[in-house]
Amino acid sequence: MSGKLKKYDPATCDIALLSGRAVDRTGVRYGRLVAIEPTAKRQGGSIVWRCHCDCGEEVLVSAKLLATGSIASCGCLRREMLAERATNHQGKRYGKLLALEPVEGRQGGGVLWRCRCDCGNEVLVRGNFLVTGDRWCCGKCLPREKSRAMKQIKYLVKNGVSTDEILLRLYSVFPR
Ligand SMILES: [Zn+2]
Ligand SMILES: [Zn+2]
Repeated sequence: MSGKLKKYDPATCDIALLSGRAVDRTGVRYGRLVAIEPTAKRQGGSIVWRCHCDCGEEVLVSAKLLATGSIASCGCLRREMLAERATNHQGKRYGKLLALEPVEGRQGGGVLWRCRCDCGNEVLVRGNFLVTGDRWCCGKCLPREKSRAMKQIKYLVKNGVSTDEILLRLYSVFPR
């Protein structure tokens, strides 16, 4: 079947679609979806493709929906975005960051939050990264914190403080 199709070309594919010509989308990525093979199904006149989603699911999506960008995942992306949008981080503390407010503008499909670091810096952080602990400080104060911690460790070791106690004190600086 795919032998009869014109090879997908990003520059002309959507023109081809509009003119009603079928193109081979095998292996072409649309957001989280990768087109695997065309099926015998048709939807609104366009070929329905079997697609593999990054999350592991497989879905059937018509070429038209793929080309127009209407569908870019099996539905997992939308679910995540809705869940993320519903998450209110306002006033919550994540390590040294205090989430102040969500801001307009998105990064990789996630909601950005304006956060204030204990050091005084303000940064924009994806809500997801706050939850996972990937971001817990502004990043700028990190080298300073590290060198301070190293000095502290050396001092504690010299003064015969136990490893457990040192780790305990470190975790108060680095919450992960
Ligand atoms: Zn998915
Ligand atoms: Zn900071």
